[in-house]
Amino acid sequence: MTINQVIAQARNYLSENDIALIKSAYNFAAQAHRGQKRITGEPYLEHPLQTAFILAQMGLDAKTIAAGLLHDVPEDTKYKLADIKKIFGEDIAFLVDSVTKLSNLEYHGQIRYREGLKKMFLAMAKDIRVIFIKFADRLHNLRTLEYLPDIKRQSIANETLDIYVPIADLLGIWHLKWQMEDLCFKYLHPAEYQELSQKYQIDKKLELNQYIKRMTKELGQALDKLNIPHEINGRFKHLYSIWQKMQDKNRKFNEIYDVFALRVIVPDIDSCYRTLGVIHNLWRPNMSRFKDYIALPKPNGYQSLHTTVFGPEGKATEFQIRTPEIHERAQYGMAAYWSYKKYGSKRPAPHVGWIQEILNAQKNSPDTKTFIQQLRLDIFNDRLFVLSPKGDVYELPTGSTPIDFAYAVHTDIGNKAKGVLINNKIGQLDELLHNNDIVEIIIDKQQTAPDPAWLKFVKTTKAKNSIRQYLKPSPVNRLLSLANPQHWWPQHPSQKPSAKKNKDH
Ligand code: MN
Repeated sequence: MTINQVIAQARNYLSENDIALIKSAYNFAAQAHRGQKRITGEPYLEHPLQTAFILAQMGLDAKTIAAGLLHDVPEDTKYKLADIKKIFGEDIAFLVDSVTKLSNLEYHGQIRYREGLKKMFLAMAKDIRVIFIKFADRLHNLRTLEYLPDIKRQSIANETLDIYVPIADLLGIWHLKWQMEDLCFKYLHPAEYQELSQKYQIDKKLELNQYIKRMTKELGQALDKLNIPHEINGRFKHLYSIWQKMQDKNRKFNEIYDVFALRVIVPDIDSCYRTLGVIHNLWRPNMSRFKDYIALPKPNGYQSLHTTVFGPEGKATEFQIRTPEIHERAQYGMAAYWSYKKYGSKRPAPHVGWIQEILNAQKNSPDTKTFIQQLRLDIFNDRLFVLSPKGDVYELPTGSTPIDFAYAVHTDIGNKAKGVLINNKIGQLDELLHNNDIVEIIIDKQQTAPDPAWLKFVKTTKAKNSIRQYLKPSPVNRLLSLANPQHWWPQHPSQKPSAKKNKDH
């Protein structure tokens, strides 16, 4: 990797001033790391250059790329953070310092794990670019992991799967997530990785060329007839996800449904649904596998129409249908919102408010253990979508009850909840909600306080905190809760307003 390659990538979207900043960061890093070698035998500079290149691929701003070039300077050279601050200013120094602090955290056991996760979140709340640099740094380290001793290798791979991958998933950065997963898989389960990747190669040669080509052609012709411009790519799912499914369901490679997958990119949402119709018209769909993530995005903002059809010879084949914008977001997730390439200086307001809200909501957790447990519950667990009778979509953690829903809609509705209709039938306030349930809370206007017994079954932090406030004798807390009806889990920035309207916002 050379600085010219990084610059060529960045020049697509950055100004000459920005390029000058990147060059001067490079010159400083080159001088600082002069003579140093990586364990691979390459000059040390290769690592910051690779890190910077990944950041430029993500379309991030010049300061982030500069910080990527400088990220190992204070740790590994005679130069100090103060030197970076003097030359490059507060912002870049902050980014470098935060990345260094995260790096100092070695992964040893559960306690460090929790601390690591918490630190990542704290850094993210301050400036999400820290995490992007850390991801780029980690990705390149994983690519060169084979040069490290076995035990170190495993510890880095485990830490990546435990901490980095869930956060990449949470932020929707699929592009980094699958690369990290496949690299970890390779080091943690070398034999299985080898076996799968060989099968993959053989199948790719034999099948992709014939079977996938045939389906691509048929679909292409049908779309041409309707004048829908399209791009169709045949692809295999990445190895780690195939392996995970084989573990989960105890199935063999060729039984995994979506090994064959085709991605169809069409200009707009309307064309997505029309394309879906075309596909279902050509091949018989397996409706149990149909997912409309455009109308109901995944919690991390992921969108696409997914359908699995029985193709020629009855082979199950998955289609993912999306627009170019959706595709970009599916690759880069939250990072796409930070893309300088896309938004330039008119970048939309930073979407990190929700991370801050998570931290605020967790502030009172007495220890890190509780913090992480709650965090996992609120974020990392599967979430479900339920609807109000008017069709507004609410996102809740799995295991949520009608009371959780009531508080998600409005604190006041939670406090006055008396009964519930689930899919138009009378339900219980403590029963588990399911995906796509239509939930209507029946309120009692005379009821002034929630039932403390609800605490035994509610799942969300929002519901718990709201109910607890009535247990405390503090009138201030009560006033606060009345004054702030906003539910703390905010609308995900990538969800179209039409998909999720919170009328109390
Ligand atoms: Mn590094």
